Amino acid sequence: MSTEPTAATGIGVFGGTFAPIHHGHIRLAVELRERLRLDRVLIVPSAHPPHRAAPEVPPERRLEWARLALAGEPGLVVDDREIRRTGPSYTYDTLAGLRAEFGPAAPIALLLGDDAANQLHTWHRWRELFDLAHLVFVERPYEPSAPAPELASFLRGRRVGAAQALLERPAGNWMAASIPPLAISSTRIRQLLKAGRSIRGLVPDAVIQSLATEDVRALTKDEDPAED
Ligand code: ATP
Repeated sequence: MSTEPTAATGIGVFGGTFAPIHHGHIRLAVELRERLRLDRVLIVPSAHPPHRAAPEVPPERRLEWARLALAGEPGLVVDDREIRRTGPSYTYDTLAGLRAEFGPAAPIALLLGDDAANQLHTWHRWRELFDLAHLVFVERPYEPSAPAPELASFLRGRRVGAAQALLERPAGNWMAASIPPLAISSTRIRQLLKAGRSIRGLVPDAVIQSLATEDVRALTKDEDPAED
């Protein structure tokens, strides 16, 4: 039996450094999978993020945490393609690979929080991402939506208001989605760890239990301790 989706179901793609993965990430993926009625959301840890310093934590550890965090969560699938690839982890390449796998008719939606969306105009071949997928911009606490002028003008005329409209085409449109906000960031988790404080409730317990001294050292190396 084929596991490939029909064109009427959709594939969500959610990338990040996930250093570490937290409940803000997980809720985004769960909520959008349900709202957009996606067949599955692929969680894609980045190996060599082109736009920020690579995390000190090795990609394999970040991948392992994502697997622990999402074990048993139907429809959320950890995808290691960026970690298997060499060179910069360009989203364009990831989407091109997925398009080749799922075929020209399958709707694919790239899910982005506001901070990532605000930087989209700096990404490799960013305009061509819309040839490969739809984009879904998700509100993020403390991150106002501030698309660069060139992105804002490119987006004009491509917006759809409802998930159903996204699934009618394979790529090329965008929508804004708001979900109940969770003000969690990996940065704050690293800062709490640096201060020797608890991260319970922010990160899945299975991930917390797997943290070795070496992981905490790598996560906190370049961080200032949390003061709040
Ligand atoms: P860091 O603090 O290290 O930048 P992060 O918490 O922003 O990490 P990333 O791995 O950089 O996590 O983010 C991956 C994606 O998840 C991005 O699109 C980001 O906008 C989104 N995201 C992260 N946290 C949240 C959150 N709490 N709510 C909504 N989106 C989020």
